Amino acid sequence: MKFIPREDWGAPASSPAAYLASAHGVKIHYLGTPYTSRTHSLCDDYVRSIRASHLANTKENYVDIAYTALVCEHGAVFEGRGLHKRCGANGNQELNRRDYAVCALLGDGLTKPTDAMLNGLRDAIEWLRRSGDAGDWIGGHRDGYPTDCPGDALYAWVQHGAPRPSSPSDPDPDDVYTVREHDTLSAIASRLNVDWRDLAQVNGIWPPYTIYPGQKLHVPEKHDPVIPPFPGASAFVLGKANPAVLELDDCLIRKGWTRHNDGNGYQRGAVFTEYTRLNVADFQRSKAELRGDPDGYPGPLTWQLLHS
Ligand SMILES: [Zn+2]
Ligand SMILES: [Zn+2]
Repeated sequence: MKFIPREDWGAPASSPAAYLASAHGVKIHYLGTPYTSRTHSLCDDYVRSIRASHLANTKENYVDIAYTALVCEHGAVFEGRGLHKRCGANGNQELNRRDYAVCALLGDGLTKPTDAMLNGLRDAIEWLRRSGDAGDWIGGHRDGYPTDCPGDALYAWVQHGAPRPSSPSDPDPDDVYTVREHDTLSAIASRLNVDWRDLAQVNGIWPPYTIYPGQKLHVPEKHDPVIPPFPGASAFVLGKANPAVLELDDCLIRKGWTRHNDGNGYQRGAVFTEYTRLNVADFQRSKAELRGDPDGYPGPLTWQLLHS
């Protein structure tokens, strides 16, 4: 835990707030006001400004910053009123006596908590349980009090039990794939040996099929490839059309053997062209079983391997 005690951010070492022997649990808050992302060296300024505004609030008559702790987007835990002090942020004295209050520096503008922030919030919760006699309950300011706080994104996380975000180095389970830099849907599908249309569909991805690094994709079940019977060598004659060439082109495109084309990308078509032949020859050269005779004309084995 990256912990910043009160005196390190410019508050008196001990809070004058009332003593609290134990708490039922921890309530999560957010700022809710406009807040922009900043460098960490400016976070203590911001926490000081919150304390100043709370002390200046004559209506609430705060004796100190209202929160038990505050967590910035960088995951640092700023000590607020601290351990065994009644907070002032939960809406009324009964609620303040019941739970600690931890505030995420998040609001309009920066509305989605960072992974570092979620880890920091989790650190604060565990610190309050370990050293502040906080019970297991975790909730949001809106639980039992009419407010939007802590915002929908943070509240959804709270409702899931406030888990630590999984780190990028954690291995994915078998049915999950994490998108890498420069991945495309078709490249991922061929790596996972699944149909890219299934991959798009089960993940709700529609044209233009935008994916982003770090995105978790659910991996659809693999189908055993259904290999249509070999149509015979007579289906593949240079310059001649045959429906089997469409099937052949689908295989070439799915496997990425398309570098020979008229400059506009390789298109599927019923005519067996010289481009078709050269692309098939590339594929044949890539397979030890076919390398002996890469003539570009599919035989039964080429046909089978193109479909597997
Ligand atoms: Zn709140
Ligand atoms: Zn920070």
